[in-house]
Amino acid sequence: MSGSTTTAGLRAGGCLCGRIRFTVSGEADYPHACSCGHCQRRAGGPLQTWVSFPLASLVWTGEDGEPSWFDTFEAKTRRGFCRTCGSSVAAWDYGNAWIGINIPALDDASDPRLTPVNQSFRSNAVPWLPAVPDSQHADS
Ligand SMILES: [Zn+2]
Ligand SMILES: [Zn+2]
Repeated sequence: MSGSTTTAGLRAGGCLCGRIRFTVSGEADYPHACSCGHCQRRAGGPLQTWVSFPLASLVWTGEDGEPSWFDTFEAKTRRGFCRTCGSSVAAWDYGNAWIGINIPALDDASDPRLTPVNQSFRSNAVPWLPAVPDSQHADS
């Protein structure tokens, strides 16, 4: 499979101000949009878009190291954000071998493998924005 990633599949990203930087590599798993209440509040917008990478591949490379973390479900799920500029960059379920990355936090999100294939919490979505098509379950 050839893509727009660099050799070794390394992908870089970070927050708006640049104090939080990271690299991830490996398979980009389940890119999707989410319109749950937590995503909307955290984003300040109608949805967030997520893709997972192996947690073991994640390296925090910016001057601030790891983002600040906020437990959206105590001891279950935490969200990482830059304490300076507020950008949401990551989400992690405690104990999970995968880390969720906000797709727009990646420097280059043009890879088709980063296109959301579904939308979680559709019932909570705003009525004024079209839903992300479910290509996850499309026959092909
Ligand atoms: Zn920042
Ligand atoms: Zn969500």
